[in-house]
Amino acid sequence: MKVYNNILETIGNTPLVRLNKLTKDVKATILAKVETTNPGNSVKDRMAVKMIEDAEKAGLIKPGGTIIEGTSGNTGMGLALGAIVKGYKLICVLNDKQSKEKMDILRAVGAEVVVCPTAVDPSDPRSYYSVSKRLANEIPNSWYVNQYDNLSNREAHYESTGPEIWEQTDGKITHFVVGVGTGGTISGVGKYLKEKNPDIKIWGIDTYGSVFKKYHETGIFDEAEIYPYITEGIGEDILPANVDFDVIDKFEKVTDKDAAVYTRRLAREEGIFVGNSAGAAIKGILQLKDELKEGDVVVVLFHDHGSRYVGKIFNDDWMRERGFLEEETKNAGDLVGR
Ligand code: PMP
Repeated sequence: MKVYNNILETIGNTPLVRLNKLTKDVKATILAKVETTNPGNSVKDRMAVKMIEDAEKAGLIKPGGTIIEGTSGNTGMGLALGAIVKGYKLICVLNDKQSKEKMDILRAVGAEVVVCPTAVDPSDPRSYYSVSKRLANEIPNSWYVNQYDNLSNREAHYESTGPEIWEQTDGKITHFVVGVGTGGTISGVGKYLKEKNPDIKIWGIDTYGSVFKKYHETGIFDEAEIYPYITEGIGEDILPANVDFDVIDKFEKVTDKDAAVYTRRLAREEGIFVGNSAGAAIKGILQLKDELKEGDVVVVLFHDHGSRYVGKIFNDDWMRERGFLEEETKNAGDLVGR
C-alpha cells in the first residue's frame, strides 16, 4: 500500500509550474514553486515541523507540553498540524486586527487563540509580545517558538525547499525570487542554491513600509521606512535573525496595490489561486525584467493559498474601497481585445 503514516509526511515535494501568460513579456522562463499543496496550504508547514523537531531534540519541549507562538496565520497552521500529530497543546497569541477567519481556522485545528490589543506599545503588559512571553514563563513545560530568530526556520528551507528547486530545474535555475518576512525562505533556499552555483541570483521582494531594502543597500536601519501597509506575510519593522543579508543580491519593493492586482491576475490568467505575497513577487519580476535575458530560468516561490484572502483582495468591494480596482479594469480591457 502506498500510504503516508500521518499528515506531516505529506509536507514538501511541491510542484514547479511554468507561467504562460502573465510574464509573457519577460525573456526568461518563469517557473512558480507553488506551496499550496502542503497540508496546511503554505510553505510554512516545512519550517513549523522542523522547529518543533529541533526543539524536541534540544530538550526544549517534552511530550504533553505547550507550544506558544505569536502568529496569525501560516506558521500557526503548520504548528497546529505538528502539535496534533506529535501530541502537544498550541497557544497562538494574536493581535485584534487579525481577521476572524484566521482565528477560526486556528481553532478548527485545535489551537487555543489568545487575542491582544493592537493599539498598545510592545512593552505594554497587554501587548502580544508581552503576553506570549508571560505565558511561556507561567505555563510549565511550554516552549516559545519565535519564528523570527529561531534558525531552524531557515534551516528547514536549506534542507528541503532548496534541494527540491535545484533538482526540479536540473540545476538550470539562474534566479530565485521570493517575498521576505522572517527571512527563513530566502535565506535557506538562497544558501543552498549559492553553494550549488554561486552565480545564481537571489532577489528578495519587500513592501513599502518595511526596512529590508534600505538596510540591505546602506546598512542603515531607518525608522522613517516604517509605516502601515496591506500586503501580508512580507516586510518587517525589525531585522529577524533568519534574514541572511549576505546571500541576497537585491531587494525590490512592490506597492500594496500592485501586489493585490497581480495576485488577482495570477488566479484569473494562470489559474493559480494564491496569496498576495505571490502577486508582489510576480510584479517584482516584471519591474526587474530588463535584468533578465533569454535562457535565464527564474524560480519564484508562492507561499500560501488564496482562500485566506477571499474577504480581502478577492473581494471587489474591499479592492474598490482602497482604490485598487482601476488598473485591473484596464488589464481586463486588454484581455477582451485578444
Ligand atoms: N508570504 C506569506 C503569505 C507568508 O506567510 C510569509 C511568512 N511570513 C512570507 C511570504 C515570507 O516568508 P519568510 O517568513 O520565510 O520570509
